[in-house]
Amino acid sequence: MKNEPGSEETLDPENWDDLRQLGHRMVDDMIDWLQTVRERPAWQPIPEKTKEQLQNQPLPGEPKDLAGVYEDFLSEVRPYPKGNIHPRFWGWVDGTGTVSGMFAEMLAAGMNSNVGFGEHSAVLVETQVIDWCKKIVGFPDEGSGILVSGGSMANLIGLAVARNAKADFNVAQKGLQSAAFGMVLYGSAETHSSVQKAVEILGLGNESFRRIAVDKEFRIDIAVLKAAITEDKKNGLNPFCVIGNAGTVNTGAIDDLKQLADLCEEENLWFHIDGAFGALAYLLDEFKPRLQGMERADSLAFDLHKWMYIPYEAGCILIRHADRHHQTFSPAGSYLSHLPRGVASGLWLSEYGLQLSRGFKALKIWMSVKEHGIDKYRRLIRQNIGQAQHLACLIEDSPELELLAPVGLNVVCFRFVNENSDEEKLNELNREILMQLHESGTAVPSYTTIKGKFGIRCAITNHRSRLEDFDILIDEVIKTGRKLTGL
Ligand SMILES: *Cc1c(COP(=O)(O)O)cnc(C)c1O
Repeated sequence: MKNEPGSEETLDPENWDDLRQLGHRMVDDMIDWLQTVRERPAWQPIPEKTKEQLQNQPLPGEPKDLAGVYEDFLSEVRPYPKGNIHPRFWGWVDGTGTVSGMFAEMLAAGMNSNVGFGEHSAVLVETQVIDWCKKIVGFPDEGSGILVSGGSMANLIGLAVARNAKADFNVAQKGLQSAAFGMVLYGSAETHSSVQKAVEILGLGNESFRRIAVDKEFRIDIAVLKAAITEDKKNGLNPFCVIGNAGTVNTGAIDDLKQLADLCEEENLWFHIDGAFGALAYLLDEFKPRLQGMERADSLAFDLHKWMYIPYEAGCILIRHADRHHQTFSPAGSYLSHLPRGVASGLWLSEYGLQLSRGFKALKIWMSVKEHGIDKYRRLIRQNIGQAQHLACLIEDSPELELLAPVGLNVVCFRFVNENSDEEKLNELNREILMQLHESGTAVPSYTTIKGKFGIRCAITNHRSRLEDFDILIDEVIKTGRKLTGL
């Protein structure tokens, strides 16, 4: 059946001026909403009725005008955020995002750039951003890199290149079932769970990842690591990689990266670093000595949506050996061959990662770094580290609170204690305190278990927090703890 000329439909607005007006209203509404974020709870439960409206709805058949759909957003979606825009959100390691980042996302979506490949500005913006990322974390200029969804994907890509580079056969062609010797890798017991996902998906298997004991500062025990490598070699296995942590998720511990780099050099192992948030501390002169050795990594994974406060999602993987990186992700396909001129003549970023089609994540980073300048990030990161110290002092000054791990970076783990309780009861009590903190909307720390002790955990990657916010947190924890223990 042929279309009648002039009968075509499109998704463009029927009336561009109406849409322009609605768009302006959306901008005003979001600016007002972000400007007043401090006045609202850090989190609030979603009423059952709203949950019902958000789920289990039939597939819309009839159209509804955009203004009406926007009203649905205002009443059902916007009031119930996770809370990581709030000044008292310190859960997991969620960054705060920025107001200008919101606009960058709009501009990027307007261009609808597919940054998989080609001769167009977005590809150049991303290569510029990758270059800046190398400067930010002190990585060698000759390395390659790509923006990814986050630290999990960055770890996967780094370890995929490591596996292919260090196998003693063509693993891309033959698969791991052709390995004569089992490939094994090492990291501390504090290594992030995304590494487990990566080793499983890479076919290495979870057992091949040796979780090495940590010292009392939660850093990898190098003597234990060396012994494990020797033992594995003796048993005919093929140690191929060590993962160093620059800021563990539980406590912010930084492994001795220099010693790990030396060891990897001696043993001819790939040195991967998970620096999801900690790598950014390299911006501070006073932290450079503690991150010494990071510049010797073969691959370095880190996030921009955590300690660079870029709106979700934005992570980065840097690889020292550009050729190895490229080899791992550049299969043949005639529909994807390069042309000498025209759109298909540019750089092919898709040959450095898993995605062919890729969003324009680079724009929000490019705009943010230009807008604020890197010194502003230095000051903000230093501010967060200072706030962690302030919080640690408040905890140490209170006999009812106990610090569960040393505070070396921006992560603070603590709990409410009550002399009359055993460990199990204390775990129960602190879980309850934490849930009440969330439900009251006062603050959103997260939690972890350290040496069997359930702890309230603050990871401070928040540019909106002020010192007084930590006082509010501590007051509320003590008040809730006393209430629950009947003191
Ligand atoms: C957050 C985190 C990750 C995972 O990063 P995502 O951006 O959440 O995928 C990996 N390692 C560490 C140490 C982290 O803190």
